[in-house]
Amino acid sequence: MTPAPASQARGLMRAAVLYGAEDVRMEDVPVPVPGPGEVLARVDVASIDFTDRKVYLRGQHPMIKIPGLFGHEWAGTIVAVGPGAEARWRPGQRVVAANSAPCSPEADPACRQCRRGRQSMCENIQYNNGAFATYILVPSGLVRINLHEIPTDVPPERVVFTEPYACVLHAVRRVHIHPLDTVAILGAGPMGLFWVIALRQRYGPGLVIVSLDYQDDRLAVAEVLGASHAVNSKGGNTRELLRATIGRPDADVVIESVGAVESHREALGLVGRGGTLVSFGGVAPGPTLSVDIGRLHYEEISIQPVYHHTPADVAEAVRQLVTGQVPVERLITARLPLSELRRALQMVADRTTLRTILVPDP
Ligand SMILES: [Zn+2]
Repeated sequence: MTPAPASQARGLMRAAVLYGAEDVRMEDVPVPVPGPGEVLARVDVASIDFTDRKVYLRGQHPMIKIPGLFGHEWAGTIVAVGPGAEARWRPGQRVVAANSAPCSPEADPACRQCRRGRQSMCENIQYNNGAFATYILVPSGLVRINLHEIPTDVPPERVVFTEPYACVLHAVRRVHIHPLDTVAILGAGPMGLFWVIALRQRYGPGLVIVSLDYQDDRLAVAEVLGASHAVNSKGGNTRELLRATIGRPDADVVIESVGAVESHREALGLVGRGGTLVSFGGVAPGPTLSVDIGRLHYEEISIQPVYHHTPADVAEAVRQLVTGQVPVERLITARLPLSELRRALQMVADRTTLRTILVPDP
């Protein structure tokens, strides 16, 4: 490891602290000291996503305490291990972690949702933030369940998307899809593109994947990653665009990967007979979606919301990312030093980047 700069030697580190809506400040804060079962890691790379942008704009989110440390996607190197942590963890190990942990399998009793196999709905879920900093503290629950060692020859950039990719793998695992189905994905942002990758990997060449977005540059990436068709739906009637593209105005599975009310409504209108709407993009509680009950019943329309991930999904995401079968380099469109976090947040808003990697300042 390189020698710590003077500010760290005094026990301080640079960290982004979120104080409220659009109020994030880079500050010198104490380097956390790992307590029982905890691990302290140096952040080698962090990534910024649309959730970070939403949190920044709203100044609140179920995933984060405010004021508090900010950022939830990172990969790094263990620098200190707290007393009583499992013996498999030691300084110098390269690691990646999810941003949360449900009840531990040893928890007695685990919550009702974990007992019924719904860990993404855990009533005791513990979120972790602080990726936009020199070091991040990994709480003991997360160390036990959702911290993974990474081989030293795997660049941290390749695994930094563990959390978002785990969300997609979780959804792919839960949504019923037939290999000959037609799947429409609304949104070709990073998550919509992860969907293209994961679906193509799991279902092979027979699955028809239609990627829909307003941005041609993103649609071009969707095609490279395996979309059968990439359609710019800006200003168009989506049903007619689908008909022109695949010969029918609807799809068997429609994935809302935008996170907007209007695109949820649009997505429901695209679900064909026996089909499924997958609500994947998060919308703040409040707005409603009206459903024709006659269609719902006689056409067996399913609505399948999927949120977050489970430890099994996180482990599978790490496995796929480590082996290099996920072309993450297609998604990394910018690299900035941590001190330019505000600019990185603006780029997410402007949609001028797919994924921005934040690296420590020189
Ligand atoms: Zn639980």
